[in-house]
Amino acid sequence: MNPFKYTRVADIASAIKEVSGDDGAVFIAGGTNLIDLMKENVTRPARLVDITRVPLARIEELPDGGLRLGALVTNADTAYHAEVERRYPMLSRAILAGASAQLRNMATNGGNPMQRTRCYYFYDTATPCNKREPGTGCSAIEGFNRIHAILGTSEHCIAVHPSDMCVALIALDAVVCVSGPQGERTIPFADFHRLPGDTPHLDNNLRSGEMITALDLPKRGFPDHYAYLKVRDRTSYAFALVSVAVGLEMEGDTVTEARVALGGVAHKPWRNTDAEAMLNGLKVTKDHFEAVAFAILREAKGFGHNDFKIALAQRAIVRALQHASGTGRTQ
Ligand SMILES: Cc1cc2nc3c(=O)[nH]c(=O)nc-3n(C[C@H](O)[C@H](O)[C@H](O)COP(=O)(O)OP(=O)(O)OC[C@H]3O[C@@H](n4cnc5c(N)ncnc54)[C@H](O)[C@@H]3O)c2cc1C
Ligand code: SF4
Repeated sequence: MNPFKYTRVADIASAIKEVSGDDGAVFIAGGTNLIDLMKENVTRPARLVDITRVPLARIEELPDGGLRLGALVTNADTAYHAEVERRYPMLSRAILAGASAQLRNMATNGGNPMQRTRCYYFYDTATPCNKREPGTGCSAIEGFNRIHAILGTSEHCIAVHPSDMCVALIALDAVVCVSGPQGERTIPFADFHRLPGDTPHLDNNLRSGEMITALDLPKRGFPDHYAYLKVRDRTSYAFALVSVAVGLEMEGDTVTEARVALGGVAHKPWRNTDAEAMLNGLKVTKDHFEAVAFAILREAKGFGHNDFKIALAQRAIVRALQHASGTGRTQ
């Protein structure tokens, strides 16, 4: 057991002050990921700053017609919120595809994007891992890599980001609101997470001392034509091998706007805006969907055990597009 100190704060300013300038201090919200990492000795914070009393547990209307999801609203309360279900059902589905009811009751909207990879070697402190201990090597590249990335990998790390919620958030063009020692700023969701490159220990672009205060959803929520398809080893309580979030705007049987995001395939939720734009103005046919799926996976590369994910992702994209457009089987 590593000793650590515990502080509880009641407002944003105190939260930021408590972690600023203290490399050993981290925020704790629902604790569903952080406590596991501490128990496994993967992370050893000297101080936990409990932010659960900070008044950020609200879902509010935005003046532009969007919705603000407070960082401390639980994943369960977000998924079952009447306006989220009505205007952003893709997000609701994605959240409910993740974890278990008990975990979603604890997990928060600020904690979900911050959760760390489920790479087995990251959790196994007896093995080299560049993410856990920079410069030690990557055990997965030549190891058992069935759950690992096929897009955006580097020679230093092939881990995937495990979130379901984040796949819908990138598809919806959500924005991350943060507060830090330098004040407030917003980060487009697509720019929040990082690719591994030669700094795989960095999962995202949050700066030291910054706290997520909210996730803003733009007005457009694709409530009429959407899908969230999660392919996994068990139908519940398992992380995605591949997941696909789709939102479509359609006129008749023609697509006027398409969003296609993938989970379980890269170090960040994956979107290829050029490929999804190929659908604009096209009819909803399987051939067109297959062409988009092929384009999204064009650069994909397997590492042996995970080669199957390339074909799986292509088929999942086609199926999710068929479901969203009403031209295929339901899930
Ligand atoms: C068995 C199991 C199965 C799971 N299955 C899935 C799944 O299928 N799909 C899925 O998407 N997720 C899954 N999860 C992950 C779960 O969704 C996350 O653990 C949860 O969302 C994290 O939120 P939290 O509030 O508990 O974060 P915490 O554990 O409290 O914190 C996680 C990290 O976020 C940081 N943090 C928390 N809040 C903030 C904030 N406001 N600003 C800045 N940093 C912050 C903390 O410092 C910490 O580093 C699973 C978890 C478990 C344990
Ligand atoms: S894939 Fe990334 S997290 Fe997994 S062992 Fe390699 S460096 Fe570590």
